[in-house]
Amino acid sequence: MPSSHRPRKRFGQNFLIDRSVLYQIADAVAPQLGDNLLEIGPGQGALTAVLLTRIKHLTAVEIDRDLVAYLQRHFTAAQLTLYSEDILRFNLSRIAQDNAAFRIVGNLPYNITTPLLFHLLASHVAIADMHFMLQREVADRLVATPGSEQYGRLGIMVSYHCQVERLFEVPPEAFSPPPKVTSAVVRLVPHRTPPVALHHLKSLEQVVTTAFSQRRKTVRNSLKNLLNETHFSAANIDPGERPERLSLVQFAALANQLNPGEIS
Ligand code: SAM
Repeated sequence: MPSSHRPRKRFGQNFLIDRSVLYQIADAVAPQLGDNLLEIGPGQGALTAVLLTRIKHLTAVEIDRDLVAYLQRHFTAAQLTLYSEDILRFNLSRIAQDNAAFRIVGNLPYNITTPLLFHLLASHVAIADMHFMLQREVADRLVATPGSEQYGRLGIMVSYHCQVERLFEVPPEAFSPPPKVTSAVVRLVPHRTPPVALHHLKSLEQVVTTAFSQRRKTVRNSLKNLLNETHFSAANIDPGERPERLSLVQFAALANQLNPGEIS
């Protein structure tokens, strides 16, 4: 651990210090020789080192230049291919391999979790799976089902792209400095074929975002600028429902009403 490195709050630096948690994550990932493993935010290399006891090489993207310099001193180029970049601006297709989908892992900076998930899901590269440490509250939103308070845009949009599993919780004491909240590790596995037929992904985003921007209103009210009664009955949705009661399948049916004649 670089003794001189002062954790930077703006980069969400809470370093994992509990070795049993590092092993638990590595067990969940279960890397195999030949995997195209990408770590986001390796930090001081705690998880990187454990992963490298199981595979020979991984790729990582780290924004903090001081930590990049540290990692370059501690790992060989044969072990670690390191990009000193902001993952949110990083084009994954630059480093995509034809024969091996990415397996992505990271103890994520909490402030970039949601934009990062959408960045990765929109990246058009093959992803086999993702294992992320997130704020527990975000993990709860990812696996929330209709009718619950945590159910909303994030869970619906991610469930269109991936199957999500909440694996285990991690207490603040496992990190230095300890974050204010409990964390959880999740596994996301992109669907091979989408779970619902959509004419346009953008329409789903638009309907879901608009509906949940006024989550206490009925969808008749919140979606009135997008859909009319005919659309609701064609989609077989009760317009008196609140958004938190509608499933992905039902949102997809509404989204397809926005451009019914078009098939993408
Ligand atoms: N993996 C390390 C661990 O478990 O101890 C560090 C985890 S720390 C929560 C998050 C790491 O992500 C930090 O090293 C931070 O510098 C890095 N980071 C923050 N924002 C980033 C970004 N936009 N792109 C790449 N790395 C980022």
